[in-house]
Amino acid sequence: MKQHLSILILLLLVNTTFGQTYANLHQLDHTKVYYSSDAKERAIKILDNVAKAEHFFQSEFNVKADYTLLVLSPADWKTYAHPNAIYGIPHFLPDGRLVVAAENNDFWKRNTPFIDKIPNELATILKETYTDKNGEIALTDFFDLLAVHELGHAFQHAAGMLKQRTWLYETFCNVLLHTYFAEKNPAQLPYLTVFPQVAIQSFPAERLKYNTLEDFEKYYNEIATKHPDNYGWYQCCFHVLAAEIYDLGGKDVMKKMWDILMNQNEKLNDDDLTDLLIKAHPALEQAITNWNNQ
Ligand SMILES: [Zn+2]
Repeated sequence: MKQHLSILILLLLVNTTFGQTYANLHQLDHTKVYYSSDAKERAIKILDNVAKAEHFFQSEFNVKADYTLLVLSPADWKTYAHPNAIYGIPHFLPDGRLVVAAENNDFWKRNTPFIDKIPNELATILKETYTDKNGEIALTDFFDLLAVHELGHAFQHAAGMLKQRTWLYETFCNVLLHTYFAEKNPAQLPYLTVFPQVAIQSFPAERLKYNTLEDFEKYYNEIATKHPDNYGWYQCCFHVLAAEIYDLGGKDVMKKMWDILMNQNEKLNDDDLTDLLIKAHPALEQAITNWNNQ
């Protein structure tokens, strides 16, 4: 009886801790992955990278992340995603939900550059990378990889990393994402790099309400919830920056960034933060110089 009681208390605790049941969803066998009806194949595909990246980050940082991957249809998104996140924006919530879309959607389509309005060489590389089986450009292969960026947030959360600046917190997740694919699955790297490069070269300036790092810090919540296209543009800039950081310094920079961010328990002023990054690795110094000279 006593043992039954302990098990019951444990179950209640577990239920309270995670605070969620996923009644409408299907669980992928013996995994922490739940998916909407008809999304099983997508869940398997996305989990493949997430599980391998988790193993990679865990061995690099010696931290165990806690997350539940949800691969959702638009209807289930309304129930289980962040209420302010529009369908298609991948995100991680502090309770461990790592949420991604199961279907192509308006947000991805709206942010696909119009191939007849961009230079030929950009149109060609975009078509070569993202044309789907129906002959249309679809960004599914790009957005699917972003689950690994969100996994990065799960690691930051588990390690208790202080958010020095939102742009740095986000850029670091893109460094994790880029480093994982460059090191462990380079065949998929074009899916990750082509869209952000084309997007920032062709994004219509009139659709950008904000475009500086200062704006990103100051208006983060507004940008993330009310201006998703502008938010996507910032993320594209951080993808390009992350790729540059990796190309300049390889896997070492990821480790070095993790170490300096984890060893800093107080929020630094702008000058001290720049100093910390510049001293941490020559690749960061070069990337910051290049960013400032843009
Ligand atoms: Zn993020």
